[in-house]
Amino acid sequence: MRSDLAFLTQMGLLEARPRVGYSYSGKTPAYGLIEQIMKLRVKDFKSLPVVVTEKTSVYDSIVALFVHDAGTLFVVNEQGFLEGVVSRKDLLKTAMGKIDVNQLPVSVIMTRMPNIITTTPEESLWTAARKLITHEIDALPVVRRVPDEKEDKFEVIGRVSKTNITKVFVDLGLGKLDVLGGDDNK
Ligand code: ADP
Repeated sequence: MRSDLAFLTQMGLLEARPRVGYSYSGKTPAYGLIEQIMKLRVKDFKSLPVVVTEKTSVYDSIVALFVHDAGTLFVVNEQGFLEGVVSRKDLLKTAMGKIDVNQLPVSVIMTRMPNIITTTPEESLWTAARKLITHEIDALPVVRRVPDEKEDKFEVIGRVSKTNITKVFVDLGLGKLDVLGGDDNK
């Protein structure tokens, strides 16, 4: 196929039909781009999660925040499954009080399951971004569901934060993200 026609087909502007040829799809130029952006998956853009255990002190959690240059920590139980999330303001608020942050476990101040908003490797990055905006939060744990007799557990396998989404936006502008470049993002 001629590369200019291939490009327009990929953009969704032309429809290619065998033996008929090309026809205008009726879609706007932005349509193809939007469609391609919707195909971006969380698994291709996630970062490593920064994880602490329920027994970690608030003090050590703050240290973890600095050491790993993160804004949100995911809290796991002894089996390594997701129990909660703690944000930098959760920690800041606690540190401003009179409580001994060396003695206080992070589990006391975290936001707990089942109120944690999560994403999965296969979810679209756009849906994950929408969750961040809708719930007014900075990061989502990327989880893998582990079926269990009583209730399903969630293994933390990554993190999607506003930084990941912003990086995609910047890379789009720089032409580094080949969203119209073929089958790679399908
Ligand atoms: P900050 O509190 O530093 O502004 P966030 O906006 O991410 O950071 O967090 C706001 C509140 O939402 C905090 O109390 C935090 O514990 C909670 N929170 C953060 N991420 C999640 C999440 N993925 N699911 C549920 N609650 C969250």
